[in-house]
Amino acid sequence: MTAAPGSITGPVSAPLAGTNPSVCAWVVTVAVGGPLPLLDYRHEGPPPLPGTRVTVPLGRRTKVGVVIATGSESSHHGPLRPITAVLDAAPVVTAPVLALLLWAASYYHHAPGDAVMHGVPLAMRNGATPALQPPVRWRATVADAAGLGRAPAQAAALAQLQALPNGCEEHDLAPLGIARSVLRELQRKGLVTCRADAAPPQFADHVPVELTAEQGSARRALIGALGGYKAFVLQGVTGSGKTEVYLQAIDAVLRRGGQALVLVPEIALTPQTLARFIARFPRTVVSHSAVSDTERARIHLRCLAGELDVLIGTRSAIFAPLPRLALIVVDEEHDSSFKQQDGFRYSARDLAIKRARDEGIPVVAGSATPALETLHNAARGRYRTLRLTARPGRAAMPALRIIDVRGETLEDGLCRRLLDAIGQRLGNGEQALVFLNRRGFAPTLQCQRCGWIAQCPHCDVRLTLHKQPPQLLCHHCDARRPLPRACPECHTSELLQRGVGTQRVEDALVRAFPDTPVLRIDRDVARRKDRLEQRFDVIRSGRPAILVGTQMIAKGHHFAAVTLAAVVNADGGLFSADYRGPERTAQIIVQVAGRAGREERPGELWLQTSHPEHPVIAALARGGYEAFAALALAERAEVGLPPFTALALLRADAPAAEDARTYLEQLLATAPHDRHVQLRGPVPAPIERRADRHRYQLAAMSRSRPALHRMLSTLLDCAKALPGARRVRFSVDVDPADTF
Ligand code: ADP
Ligand code: ZN
Ligand code: ZN
Repeated sequence: MTAAPGSITGPVSAPLAGTNPSVCAWVVTVAVGGPLPLLDYRHEGPPPLPGTRVTVPLGRRTKVGVVIATGSESSHHGPLRPITAVLDAAPVVTAPVLALLLWAASYYHHAPGDAVMHGVPLAMRNGATPALQPPVRWRATVADAAGLGRAPAQAAALAQLQALPNGCEEHDLAPLGIARSVLRELQRKGLVTCRADAAPPQFADHVPVELTAEQGSARRALIGALGGYKAFVLQGVTGSGKTEVYLQAIDAVLRRGGQALVLVPEIALTPQTLARFIARFPRTVVSHSAVSDTERARIHLRCLAGELDVLIGTRSAIFAPLPRLALIVVDEEHDSSFKQQDGFRYSARDLAIKRARDEGIPVVAGSATPALETLHNAARGRYRTLRLTARPGRAAMPALRIIDVRGETLEDGLCRRLLDAIGQRLGNGEQALVFLNRRGFAPTLQCQRCGWIAQCPHCDVRLTLHKQPPQLLCHHCDARRPLPRACPECHTSELLQRGVGTQRVEDALVRAFPDTPVLRIDRDVARRKDRLEQRFDVIRSGRPAILVGTQMIAKGHHFAAVTLAAVVNADGGLFSADYRGPERTAQIIVQVAGRAGREERPGELWLQTSHPEHPVIAALARGGYEAFAALALAERAEVGLPPFTALALLRADAPAAEDARTYLEQLLATAPHDRHVQLRGPVPAPIERRADRHRYQLAAMSRSRPALHRMLSTLLDCAKALPGARRVRFSVDVDPADTF
C-alpha cells in the first residue's frame, strides 16, 4: 500500500510540483469506507470536485471512495498511487454535508473514512448509480366511495387517497398504511390510477387552519429567522399544534424556493401526520426503514437534483444532500433514537443544530418533553424557546391521578379502582389506553419451591415469559427456550409467573371486559404490518375499545376517543442504573398522558406506583414536566452529570471478562494527567454480559469539552497498540444516550 494518511490539504491551489507542466498532477485526499483515516492519491487531469466518488487502489484491492479535497501537497512521504477512475461528473455528497461528516468524525472520534461513507446511500457505495425514473403516483379519480360499502379496506384506502389532492408516491404507501394490493383492486374498478409523472405541483390547495395566538407567534418567529442561523425549541404539550406550526413555516420556506428537512424518531411517524405533509406539499418524500436500498439511493439523487421540497426521515436523513435547504425540523427531539447506538455514534439532533449553523438557516427542535440538555441550552440562551401552552379548541390537559399500589390487590398488574375507571369510560362510549414498558407475558419465571429463576444463558438478564407463541425469550440477545413444565432444579411444577408484560395485561383486560375489543400494540404485533393497521383502524373507528402497549402507543398518535390513559408501572425507570432513567420515565409519563383527552372530552392519566412520594412523581404531580426538569437539572448540576459536564464512555467487550477489564485498565494507565478530566472505572456495564460478551466501561468526564476531546484523542491513539487490542471490541461513545 503506497497511499497513506493525509491531512486535508485545503482548496485547490497549484498542481504538484516537479511534474511535467503540461500534465497537471494533483494530490487528492479520499475517504474510503472502513476504519481508515483519509488517504492521499495522485490524479492527472482536471481535479475531481470534493464529494465525487472515485475508485482507488487499496492494497491489492480497488475500493470506492469519496473525494475530500484536492491540493498540491501531501503529508505522506513517498510516491502516491493514482486514482483508478472518477465515477461522478458532479458531487454526490454536497459540500455542507461533507463538512458535517468530517466534523462529526472528529467530534465523535470515529474513523473519517467510515463517517464520510454515511453521506453516500448504501446502493451507491459500490460505485453504482441507479437510473432515475419518474416516480409512480397513485391518485383517486372519483370524489365519492359509492359501492364500496362491503369492502371497508378499499373504502378506507380510497378515502385516504382522496384526501391527498395530488395522490402519493408509490413508496409512501407503506408509511401511509395503504396496502398496494387494495389499490390494485381499486384500480381494476377504475377508482384510482397509477401513473409515472415527473413533476407534481409544489403546493396543493387546502383550507388554511387559523392558528392560535401562541402558534401564530411561533410561526412568525420561525419565518422571521429564515435566511440566517437560529435555533429554536418548540415546547408544546402533545396536541398543542406543533406540527401545524412546522407545516406553515415549511410553506413559507417553499414559497421562497427552499427545501425543508424534517427529522422524526424511528417509530413515531404516523400515517395521519405524513398525510398532512403530503396533502399540502406533494413533493414530500419519506425515507424510512422499509424503503429498499435502491429506492433510498433514488431519493438521494432526487434530493441532490432539487426535485424534492420536503424530506422526512429518521436520523440518517441528517446527511441528505439538499442544495436549497432552508429549515430543519427535529420533531420529538428528546427521543433517544436520534442517537446512533453502534458504529458511527452520532446524534442526529445535535448534528441538526451544527448543520443549521454551518448552512446559516434556522432549526427548530420540538417536543412536549424536551431533553434536559436542550432545556439547559435554552436556559443559557443558545436556543430560543417558543411555547404552546394550550391545545387548540377545547381539549383540556389530562388530570393526573397517582395510585399508591402498596396495599392494593393487583389483578395481573392492574388495581381494582383502575379497572372500574376503565369500565366507566367504556360505558360512556369512550376508549382507554394502558401503557407498560414490557412486552411478553411476565418478565420473570420463578420456582416457588427452590427459588430458581429462568435466566438467559448468554446474558445477565432474566428470560421473559411469552405466551403468543409460548416460549421464554431473551429481550437482549433473542435467545429462545421452550417453556419448562417443571423446575429444572427441584423438579416440582410450582413455577410462578412474576410481574406483568403487555400480553398479561391484555389477558386481564379481556377477562374484565369480554365484550370490548382489547388491542395490543407492541413489537411482537408490529412484525405483521397488516395486523397492526387493523388494530389502529379499530381505535380510529372511535367505538369503545382498550389499547394496551409499549412505547409504540406513546409516540405520535392521535387517538381522538381515548379519554383515560394509564401507566401500569412507573417504578422501573425511577431506580434505573442509568442516570437518565428518571428523565426517560418523566418523558414517558407525560407522553402517555398526552394520548388522553385530545378532543372535546377531558382526559385523565392514572399512574400506578409503589413510590408516590418519589421526587420525580411528586414534581410531575405538582408542576408537570417543567417542575420535574427544574428538579432534575438541579440534581445533575450538583453531582456533575451532563449537561453540566461532557461525558464520553469508552467501552470494551470480550468473551472473557478479564480481557475487557484489563484492556481498559491498560488504557487508563496510558492517560496523561489532566486535572480538567475525570476518568472513572473501568466498571462492569449495568448488564455485564450480553450475548456471551462481557462488557466494561470507562467514563471520561469534564466541564471542558476541549479538554475531554484532547483526552479522548490521546487515549484513542494508544488504544490500538495495547497488547490486548485483538481480543476486545472497543468503542468510544461521546454524549452517550444510555450507559448500559
Ligand atoms: P402536535 O404536533 O403538537 O401534537 P398537531 O399540530 O398535530 O399537534 O395538532 C393536534 C390537532 O389539532 C391536529 O388534529 C391539528 O389538525 C389540530 N390543530 C392544530 N392547530 C390547530 C388550530 N390552530 N386550530 C384548530 N385545530 C388545530
Ligand atoms: Zn425449583
Ligand atoms: Zn440473552
